[in-house]
Amino acid sequence: KKLGIALVGLGYYSTDLLAPALQMTQHCHLAGIVTGTPSKAELWKTKYNIPEKNIYNYENFDSIKDNPDIDVVYVVLPPSMHRAYVERAAAAKKQVWCEKPMAVTAEDCQAMIDACKSNGVSLSIGYRCQHEPNTKTYVQLIRSGKLGKIQSVACAAGYRENRTDHWKQKRELGGGVIYDMGVYAIQGARLGTQLEPLAVKSAKVWTERPEIYKDGLGEIVEAELEFPNGISGWIKTSFAENVNYLHVTAENGKLEMAPFSSYSGNKGKSPFGEINFPYEVPWQQANQMDQDALAILNKQPMSVPGEEGLRDIRIVEAILESARTGKQVKIG
Ligand code: NAD
Repeated sequence: KKLGIALVGLGYYSTDLLAPALQMTQHCHLAGIVTGTPSKAELWKTKYNIPEKNIYNYENFDSIKDNPDIDVVYVVLPPSMHRAYVERAAAAKKQVWCEKPMAVTAEDCQAMIDACKSNGVSLSIGYRCQHEPNTKTYVQLIRSGKLGKIQSVACAAGYRENRTDHWKQKRELGGGVIYDMGVYAIQGARLGTQLEPLAVKSAKVWTERPEIYKDGLGEIVEAELEFPNGISGWIKTSFAENVNYLHVTAENGKLEMAPFSSYSGNKGKSPFGEINFPYEVPWQQANQMDQDALAILNKQPMSVPGEEGLRDIRIVEAILESARTGKQVKIG
């Protein structure tokens, strides 16, 4: 059986990456769409041969519960909308996939986890890198202990964002770079050490374009993290520059990935060899969705569950608090 996926929100990521990837998947397929734009519904219906009965808008979305063609609802909306749509999908008894960042607050993340649990459905966060072979290889290397004691980690994720009036510039929609790209840098630091940060030692949130990033919304964020065993962490995330790397410094040498979280072309090296498993866009997304579909079909736990999204949003909240207060903030 191939699971039927319904994409909610037909913006850039659904259009350019997920729908094309769903043409390559073995264990799931594009079965339905949820959109507020009738012209998009027409276009997708023809392009992907989607039956009329599997096309929903935001008002009639809840009736998806009666549609056996849809097994999984994949929420691909602006971050502040994730909670409501995950809760509605769970109430409709559908398995749920939700894009990163999971939500804007840890409280929202917890409510999403609880909603899925109480409705008996699974929840997976769209952290595609965790399914990606190069990421899996460096994670294995760190876990093996071959690099010896880790001393520090540095991770940066950013790109030049030229749009000026998008949800990424609107606080009420979950905008700000720490949510959009910051979670990649946080993931890199956590995956690259295989440890959870204990505290944010210091953080700085600023913008070089205050006419676009208003009222203190971050265009660029830097934070110093404290990991167990005295390991120091540093992350940077930016809408001002193209930057993407993960560096882990350890007793027996360095792991250096650059880029570490791209759609393709991720590569790097360590004293134990090169890491450069090759693939084309959008294989990574197809691989992610197939792995998540297989976990559902085999009744196994999701490899990137809601708890993983929650951890990062707790760290985001601590970074924002540290920047606001100028103080060290413990991560709860
Ligand atoms: P986008 O702006 O291109 O698309 C958002 C969609 O939401 C649009 O179709 C828009 O019409 C719809 N929408 C509904 N209500 C809206 C409202 N009130 N305001 C704005 N849009 C509204 O965004 P995107 O780049 O496709 O991002 C969507 C989600 O996917 C985000 O959570 C983002 O972080 C995530 N994403 C993930 C990756 C990844 O690599 N995993 C890459 C890109 C985006």
